[in-house]
Amino acid sequence: MIPLLLSAEAEADAPFVTRLRATGTSMHSADASLVESDALGATFAGKSGLFAIDGATADDLDGDVVLVRPQAGRVERLLRSGSPHNTLLVTERCDQLCVMCSQPPKKTHDDRFDLLEQACLLAEPDTLIGISGGEPTLYKDQLLGMVERVLTARPDLRFHILTNAQHFDADDISRLRASLYRQVSWGIPLYAAEPALHDEIVGKRGAFAQLEEGFAHLIMAGARVELRTVLVTPNHHALPDLARYVAARLQFVEAWSIMQLENIGFAKGRWSNLYVDHRADFRPIGMALTLATLHNVRAQLFNFPRCTVPADFRKYAIASISDWKRKFASACEACREQSQCSGFFEWHPDDHAETCVEPL
Ligand code: SF4
Repeated sequence: MIPLLLSAEAEADAPFVTRLRATGTSMHSADASLVESDALGATFAGKSGLFAIDGATADDLDGDVVLVRPQAGRVERLLRSGSPHNTLLVTERCDQLCVMCSQPPKKTHDDRFDLLEQACLLAEPDTLIGISGGEPTLYKDQLLGMVERVLTARPDLRFHILTNAQHFDADDISRLRASLYRQVSWGIPLYAAEPALHDEIVGKRGAFAQLEEGFAHLIMAGARVELRTVLVTPNHHALPDLARYVAARLQFVEAWSIMQLENIGFAKGRWSNLYVDHRADFRPIGMALTLATLHNVRAQLFNFPRCTVPADFRKYAIASISDWKRKFASACEACREQSQCSGFFEWHPDDHAETCVEPL
């Protein structure tokens, strides 16, 4: 696992964003240059003064855009250099309470939009930046303002924003039609075609109806949408019906991602009730994939190790897990398809991972 939070000491009192430069000269006034380093850490100097980071080498950190939080004694690696998996958490508040939530919501909100905007402006060229929560659109005006300012200054960047789509309204349509939103895609969860089942999974009465309205506004805006469905016991056998719904009502989506469960957050304590062993019964998943494909909906499987998927459906299983939280079983070293495989989340039970793989 690649650590995203590191210990640090800084001269400054207030949090600040900077880009770390271990080699060469600084290119931007917000860059910090390497002062000294050893195998345990590195010290940098920038316009906010000196700061020392423990737990990573200067080479590891070179090019990273970080948030230094002196009072907390921490550094957050917001945008890791060279990584295709960079996601910014804009809030931990949420208005849903999904049964399997991987990041259970908090009641408090730490407003970091200004700092996150500074980080985006320092991103490497052509970076895809993920935005997640909590529910980012609880702060819709701040979110859209940040996205618009960043993309105006840096049209090479793209955003992928996870949202429950409960907070779009008719007034947003003209705003989201702006050409810069072609650089933005929205990852939106839908768990069942049956409103009561979707509402039960997300823990919010009326969520499905609100989501349908959200989709209508996004369609009117020409928004780019990736649909996301986490596989849990309650929706396992409802997937074919969901595929029919997607084919009939949501053909505008760019992709439909069916995602295996993460053993973290709420799902960890409810694992035996929620986890579907897709090796034991792949039929509803296979039927959903087939129906989607027949209707020209691009379906894909996230977090499904390729060898655990029947050969006919393996092409749908992509390397979806971010590098910093991905692991493989020992036997995977002998597998020819490791580079195409999701592997497992770092927090997936080892005994299960070690016993369910069959190298291809
Ligand atoms: S053996 Fe490992 S790398 Fe190969 S498909 Fe299975 S999980 Fe993936």
